[in-house]
Amino acid sequence: MTVPRKRFGQNFLRDTNVISRILSNIAPAKNQLVIEIGPGQGALTAGLVSSGCDLTLIEIDRNLADSLGTIFPSSRLINEDVLTFDFAELGEGPFRVVGNLPYNISTPLLFKLFADRARFTDMHFMLQSEVVNRMTAKPSTRAYGRLSVMVQLYSEVEKLFEVPPEAFLPKPKVRSAIVRLKIRDHSIEKPARLEEVLKTAFSARRKTVRNALRKLLKENELIELGINPSWRPENLTPEQFMVCASFIEEKTT
Ligand code: SAM
Repeated sequence: MTVPRKRFGQNFLRDTNVISRILSNIAPAKNQLVIEIGPGQGALTAGLVSSGCDLTLIEIDRNLADSLGTIFPSSRLINEDVLTFDFAELGEGPFRVVGNLPYNISTPLLFKLFADRARFTDMHFMLQSEVVNRMTAKPSTRAYGRLSVMVQLYSEVEKLFEVPPEAFLPKPKVRSAIVRLKIRDHSIEKPARLEEVLKTAFSARRKTVRNALRKLLKENELIELGINPSWRPENLTPEQFMVCASFIEEKTT
């Protein structure tokens, strides 16, 4: 067994009840195309392989990748950084994605997957619980922000259950949670515009929408879009943010 490497966020799952619960929520099936990101020492991999799914493993750590290749010879093994990996190399899919992710790569990875979402159907991730709470947060709550809006526009998101630090070796400092994301098939035409609106709105959370979005939308335009100018940014639903972004895009092009 190799020594866990902190820089790769290696906290290996040890609790067999938690592992079974994760696998039964994923419910992998024979011949489904599944990608596991960061399989590590194979805690989830063994159950995925025994389902008969068509499995691809993406692991950055050379030593771990070597032993995964020996233990799971029937799976496709890619020894690369998932953040720079081109998923087109694997074909059109549709793929299911699974991973107990290092917390420092979770947000950039999510956005990379969303940008390429036609290839993916659903994703099950172990993430920091606090991040899952932000992903699933409803409007008008403290946890609601840019991440909630983006995640909810791109997917149907559901927090499945929490996992305590004792389930891992070494123990992480924070609580974790399993989240399910089912990719939505509607398109988000201009994600860069949406990101601009969200950044502008949520960097002025305490202001009214009238003031927070002053540079992008006039008061009468907000009213035209069905948005009360006296609301705070956190009162707008993900769909209302998308409507604002489309409106701004149209008037500037
Ligand atoms: N899935 C295993 C488990 O549940 O025990 C390991 C989980 S551990 C939290 C995260 C895994 O992701 C480690 O094996 C680590 O080496 C791998 N990893 C970290 N950064 C990565 C990256 N950028 N690309 C691919 N794998 C990565």
